[in-house]
Amino acid sequence: MEHLDVGVVGTGYVGLATGACLAYVGHRVTCLDNNQERVAGLKVGRVPFYEPGVEELIAKCAGRLRFAGSERLTEVVRGSDILILAVGTPQGGDGSADLSNVADVARAIGRALGHSTPPRELPLVVVNKSTVPVGSAHYVSTLVDDGIVEAGGEGAEFRVASNPEFLREGSAVHDSLFPDRVVVGTDSREALDALRALYTPIVEQSFPTEWDPRPKVAVPFVTTDLVSAEMIKYASNAFLATKISFINEVANLCELVGADISEVAYGVGLDDRVGSRFLSAGLGWGGSCFPKDVAALRATAREYDHETPLLDAAAAVNERQRRRVIHKLQRDLHSLKGRRVALLGLSFKPNTDDLRGAPSLTIAGALNSLGAKVIGYDPVAGKAAAELMPDIQAVFDLYDALRGAHAAVVVTEWQEVRGLDPKKAASLMREPKLIVDGRNALDATASQEAGLLYRGFGRGYDRG
Ligand code: NAD
Repeated sequence: MEHLDVGVVGTGYVGLATGACLAYVGHRVTCLDNNQERVAGLKVGRVPFYEPGVEELIAKCAGRLRFAGSERLTEVVRGSDILILAVGTPQGGDGSADLSNVADVARAIGRALGHSTPPRELPLVVVNKSTVPVGSAHYVSTLVDDGIVEAGGEGAEFRVASNPEFLREGSAVHDSLFPDRVVVGTDSREALDALRALYTPIVEQSFPTEWDPRPKVAVPFVTTDLVSAEMIKYASNAFLATKISFINEVANLCELVGADISEVAYGVGLDDRVGSRFLSAGLGWGGSCFPKDVAALRATAREYDHETPLLDAAAAVNERQRRRVIHKLQRDLHSLKGRRVALLGLSFKPNTDDLRGAPSLTIAGALNSLGAKVIGYDPVAGKAAAELMPDIQAVFDLYDALRGAHAAVVVTEWQEVRGLDPKKAASLMREPKLIVDGRNALDATASQEAGLLYRGFGRGYDRG
């Protein structure tokens, strides 16, 4: 197998998981970041966020995986076959993706290429893994060119490819080693060959699968043009977000007609054409990707003066689900002023400490503005949430959050939250001992039998 020299710019959830996994399967990888504190920590094996398995993987790759500050970019560009951009592309004010990090890195790559003497034998393959609006590869290409000119370099060759990432936080290592597919968009034969070589061990699953004893199956390697690859990423996330909004719409109807969404989703999801995943009703989608990617796709459509009624509705349903939490609290508590409300789980989903786009923050903000006292529990993200939202009183034990609370909202279905003992909860809470189960994660009957006033999402009119 051909082992390549790879640079990865950005050591966030995507860059770090990607870099570590590529090193694990045999490549020589240097991960760069402009956050010096982050780099210093990584050099001594400290992962700056909670992502199961990454720290262990880094330890296994010693010798093939290095970390450096962005000031070493020129050296890394000189020594790399492939340079992967995995910097953040947060949501800008108008909903479109903010490409400033990508632009900075693209220009810097150009300058580094312009300074490379003697000129490289093979063109550098610049791979965009950050989620960027459709058409951005051409923008990156122009910026690299600008950087080359700025550095006074001539004839420095590079090729651009789009290689969108589909990993999920919380299982980033697994998803990087065992992806459903690898997508590569490029109009360059050299770039395609390089990326094929990069992903061969993953596509062929020809590395030790110590974490996953599944039989080895080839991973589809999807090759397409640049724009289609970029679109695949947005369409995937937009579809998943829409699927969740769809089931929430059905759940809201279930509450009216007295049906139970858990039963309905199970029956619907057994149809192969639908599938059972992403059919959980509740307070909706959040995180660092779905909200910003749906917003960016809608923003792209606006650039073309094109309407996206389905995506608009998916986003509107999602916003409404969060307000429904407040309405459910008000239905039983009436005024929220002075009420103690515990938020159980604060990260945007279980197994991550990521609070970007987390429903907990919106809900806590709404509760605060209505005069409630908010207590937040999360097994890993509590401290960070309290820093972001000083009005949340963070506690580090589930039952401390419930002590004296009039109501609790299941926001994130961490295992610890799923395992809540309803009797203990009832003994600690204050009347009316209301549980709003924003993830339909608890046993409704056991909760009610323990003396809790249980309200789920779409679980029939007595529990909805
Ligand atoms: P992140 O915010 O966790 O990490 C980004 C990293 O890039 C940070 O370490 C930051 O310091 C670094 N960085 C920013 N500007 C830089 C620069 N100019 N030079 C060097 N380093 C720089 O982001 P993330 O969650 O890893 O996401 C990265 C990209 O991947 C985004 O476009 C995102 O939409 C996409 N993506 C994310 C996920 C996910 O689950 N997080 C999944 C798929 C795709």
